[in-house]
Amino acid sequence: MKNNSSHQWHTLSEEEVLQILQTDRNQGLSAGTVSSRTISYGENKLTQEKVRGVFGLMLNQFGNPLVFILLVAGLLTLFLREYLDALVIVVALFINVAVGTLQERRASQAFNKLNASQSKEATVLRDGRRMVVPAISIVPGDVVILEGGMSAPADMRLIHDRDMYMNEAALTGEWVSVRKDAGQIHKEATPLAERDNMVWMGTLVASGYGTGVVVKTGDETEVGGIASGLQLVEVRRTPLQQNVRYIARFLLYVILGATALIFLLGVFHGETIVDMLLITVAIAIASMPEGLPAAVTVVLAVGMESILKRGGLVRNLLAAETLGSTTIILTDKTGTLTEAKMSVSGLYTLEGMDHKNTDSIGDNYTLLRSAILASDAFIERREGSAGEEEEEQIIIHGRPVEKALVSAGVDVGILQEGIFRESPRLDFLQFESRRRFAASLHSGEGKTSNVLYVSGAPEPLLERSTHLLYEGKSRRLTPESRERFMRWQQSMSADGYRFIALAKRDVGFDVIPTNDPDEAVLQGLVFIGLIAFSDPVRADVAESIREVRSAGVRVVMVTGDNAKTARQIALETGIADEESGVLTGSDIERLSDEELYDAVMHTPIFARVLPEHKLHITRVLKDHGEVVAMTGDGVNDAPALMSADIGIAVGSGTEVAKAASDIVLINNSFSIITGAIKEGRRIIDNLKKIVSYLLSTGFSEIIVIGSALAVGAPLPFLPGQILWANIVEEGFMSFAFAFEGAERGVMRRDPRDNLSKRILTTRVKELIAIIAVVTSVFLVALYFFLLSLNLPIDEVRTFMFIALSLDSIFFAFSFKNLHYPIWKIRLFSNTYLFRALIVSTVLLVGAATLPPLQKLLSLVPLSLFEWIALVGVGLFNLLVIETTKYFLFERRKRG
Ligand code: ADP
Ligand code: MG
Repeated sequence: MKNNSSHQWHTLSEEEVLQILQTDRNQGLSAGTVSSRTISYGENKLTQEKVRGVFGLMLNQFGNPLVFILLVAGLLTLFLREYLDALVIVVALFINVAVGTLQERRASQAFNKLNASQSKEATVLRDGRRMVVPAISIVPGDVVILEGGMSAPADMRLIHDRDMYMNEAALTGEWVSVRKDAGQIHKEATPLAERDNMVWMGTLVASGYGTGVVVKTGDETEVGGIASGLQLVEVRRTPLQQNVRYIARFLLYVILGATALIFLLGVFHGETIVDMLLITVAIAIASMPEGLPAAVTVVLAVGMESILKRGGLVRNLLAAETLGSTTIILTDKTGTLTEAKMSVSGLYTLEGMDHKNTDSIGDNYTLLRSAILASDAFIERREGSAGEEEEEQIIIHGRPVEKALVSAGVDVGILQEGIFRESPRLDFLQFESRRRFAASLHSGEGKTSNVLYVSGAPEPLLERSTHLLYEGKSRRLTPESRERFMRWQQSMSADGYRFIALAKRDVGFDVIPTNDPDEAVLQGLVFIGLIAFSDPVRADVAESIREVRSAGVRVVMVTGDNAKTARQIALETGIADEESGVLTGSDIERLSDEELYDAVMHTPIFARVLPEHKLHITRVLKDHGEVVAMTGDGVNDAPALMSADIGIAVGSGTEVAKAASDIVLINNSFSIITGAIKEGRRIIDNLKKIVSYLLSTGFSEIIVIGSALAVGAPLPFLPGQILWANIVEEGFMSFAFAFEGAERGVMRRDPRDNLSKRILTTRVKELIAIIAVVTSVFLVALYFFLLSLNLPIDEVRTFMFIALSLDSIFFAFSFKNLHYPIWKIRLFSNTYLFRALIVSTVLLVGAATLPPLQKLLSLVPLSLFEWIALVGVGLFNLLVIETTKYFLFERRKRG
């Protein structure tokens, strides 16, 4: 059985498959077999796309047109025997390649971290026990249990299924679920998509459940065969990235035009063609914002990374840039606002109520026992690790409600294993928000008929019950008792407790009819009682909600729970106040789109909401131009999550919800959303900073050289000086803005300020214009002043070179905050910028003071006084820029 890739699994019967893989459908593999198979088959993971090493990344840089231009320019200068210029170009080339490599490495590191941050788990049968193991430990022959919302950890042949539908979008891109059938045996030629008895790695259980035997793992699987593999994080180009590419391309033409003009002007005024050729190439290189597209990716990636640090996995680059402009958050309650550390806080049966008895005896015992029978959480026992006293560790797996039930059972000594032995389960319907109940069918405990246990939302169960359990006997459910339970629930819900109800019924069938489960299940039920759960509100949620609201974002609770509980939690978290109303799912159905929009904008709570209502609300909000973020966890939430601008899945949610979402909240908390929105705003700000910094430096160079040549003055800079200045200015400083912290007050801005899919907003254009013009006027004035002193031209150029570089080093600080003047911001808060400042200063001072570099760049030594004067000029330039910025922006803010 070494080489199992030769088998056509879909053509074999279940028994043959089990036989070939030497496994057992009830026992699974033994621990020993698993470890020996791990050795022969390897871990169950897809080989990552080979991470390119530094050398590969460097080679990649040579595809960059700029590097290519530098290369050509270098050869040209060599050919012209301008060895010094050639050397400068080689240095420029080297630095450009180094910076490009650095940027790409930074971005890919961030993406790898994102991909590595989520490890998947799988539920398997090993040594006859059900347990949860890391998906990478799965080996061929493992018997895997698949339930609604889970993802398949490997390629499997089904050996059992129950109305199982798989979402195979990961493989086929098709979101419509496919029906599976373990009983089928296919012909060899059956296409992949039609092999109903197979389940593929990475596909998701949309509904129903089943059991499969793993036949292939890791790269051997069908997805493993697809080159791109299953990346958790999608890397697609976002509108902003496209916009930036567009800007870069547009600038290329502007710069080519401008340099052509400069070339003609120079030649016209008698400069030699060779000199002009070199200078125009240098200007073109210096003014081209070549680092831009890479910088955008770095900003987005760094942003995603810091959202990850806060506990949010951004699966989609687009979300990183859309987040900041979110105008409304539709949040669910359980888990996101509350801790989902649910615990059973009370059992309510009629007998218990009559006798003021909340212990688990009598009917209360029946209630808890039925609840455990109808739950699909399960207990895994792990032997205490060696050294400890063989103490067994009990881990309960499942959703919060079910976990709470099973653990309440453990506390009072009702053990799952025991009661399942007494009354074996024949069939099971998992809880789904759409249905609002779970049902479990058990063989008759000595009687001839089977027993169906139903657990679910109290209202429908109470309504559909005809009988009531009292002191172990079933009697007619009177309107008074029904009323009594309702009142109990109402009064406790108002304190934030959550409820489920239990009911049972004797039935004749052996499988639960699934064509119309509502009818089949909710009929002639014997109501057993209510179970209350407490689920504390998360400590940090109220604060996050306050913060996100001050950021202009509306928060609305949309929950499947009942109105009273919802209202209480909404009050505690500050989503609603005493006056706020509550609407329900049925209200949503009644309202027209227009009325619904109005309702969502005025009512902060929607209770008893079904997944399709969520989809409806999202659609209506989007139609009204809102940017909608929505949270969800269930399989049925997937369509709404996909249709929201930002779909947010909670970490404890189903794989289906996660696959449909843009962000996964790893620890479920709402506060991550607030943090991510803040991060989103920072991302956009920093993109604007990089773009405007790069553009203003480029423009000022062009303006200064253009003006000098226009009036027939000599060139203010030599080509080598321009290239060097470019490195000093752009090489490190611009990149550093990716790490700039969030501006003060980002969370008090209107989200619509961020709405633009363009980086070059009016404000940014104004800023670029101010800085480029002010700086150029300064430099041009300085140049003509120096010329008028009749200094040697080398000395004049030395001054100009230093002034140009210093100016942009200084005005980088203007970009630290686009909304406040420089005297109101913390100048050294960004350590990257500070480091970049040091590197740039060293490069500048080194060039101006070290003899070999001086010679290379034709610079003359300056006196200390001259240095001080130049620094003064730079600071004065900065001051003028800030004053202009202040009058333009600050005044408008007030006006
Ligand atoms: P939400 O997550 O927004 O609080 P759900 O749609 O998950 O709401 O649940 C709706 C109602 O269904 C709950 O108020 C509860 O009464 C019931 N319910 C929730 N989970 C379960 C479960 N696992 N088993 C039985 N009933 C449940
Ligand atoms: Mg829920």
